[in-house]
Amino acid sequence: MALGKIIVMLGAPGSGKGTQAKQLQDKFSIPQISTGDILRALAKEDAPLSKQIRETQAAGKLVSDDILLEVVNQRTKKEDCKNGFILDGYPRTIVQAGQLEGLVTEQNRELKVINIEILDDLLLKRLTGRRSCSFCAEIYNVYFKPSKSDNLCDKCGRNLIHRSDDNAESIEKRLQEYHKNTAPLIKYYNDKNCLSTVDGAKPAEEVFDLICNIFQ
Ligand code: ADP
Ligand code: AMP
Repeated sequence: MALGKIIVMLGAPGSGKGTQAKQLQDKFSIPQISTGDILRALAKEDAPLSKQIRETQAAGKLVSDDILLEVVNQRTKKEDCKNGFILDGYPRTIVQAGQLEGLVTEQNRELKVINIEILDDLLLKRLTGRRSCSFCAEIYNVYFKPSKSDNLCDKCGRNLIHRSDDNAESIEKRLQEYHKNTAPLIKYYNDKNCLSTVDGAKPAEEVFDLICNIFQ
């Protein structure tokens, strides 16, 4: 029998991967692992790779598959992953998907991929309007999900931040990277019969209901 699930959230930047992953984390009591968050934390350190990660993220390009492999291997070895985990933003390339397959086999897990489908046109407003809590990483949006008190997190009261890569230039690059390197994973996982697609243009609560239906 498989030892818990690995849920992969697949979708363009701003499609709602983090928003949905946080809810799934509560529903299944397994952790959300955002590679973007882990890399942003690494970028702030004074480690040998920090400068490179910082520059790559700022440019909206993809960090190397080797670094991601190390990040994901280390994080998923932790105790809280023993019953499964949700990957938010990983894999983003075919190479990463192959490396994840190794992990799935090694850990004897079941893999389920949720593809959040949405047209690019809707993403600019979502990304430029995104704000996230500097402490608990709760996600808000000045247009679609404003916090109750200006620039403060409803959950923990800390300041909200506007990600420096959520600007028009970087968003355009990130969308190019998505279409070139990540969108091919839709066919890749469809061929493996582990992909389900939901309409990410619907309100977040409705998207969550659609995702929950997949797990029934
Ligand atoms: P991703 O993790 O895929 O980059 P996020 O979950 O961070 O995307 O969502 C991007 C922005 O869009 C956030 O500001 C979030 O509040 C908002 N958002 C997410 N899902 C929806 C939705 N279904 N409708 C409207 N806004 C959404
Ligand atoms: P995200 O927070 O998911 O929007 O990711 C922000 C940035 O982190 C991306 O634009 C990439 O520079 C980097 N990143 C996150 N996940 C990956 C990944 N799986 N592969 C390569 N780069 C990544």
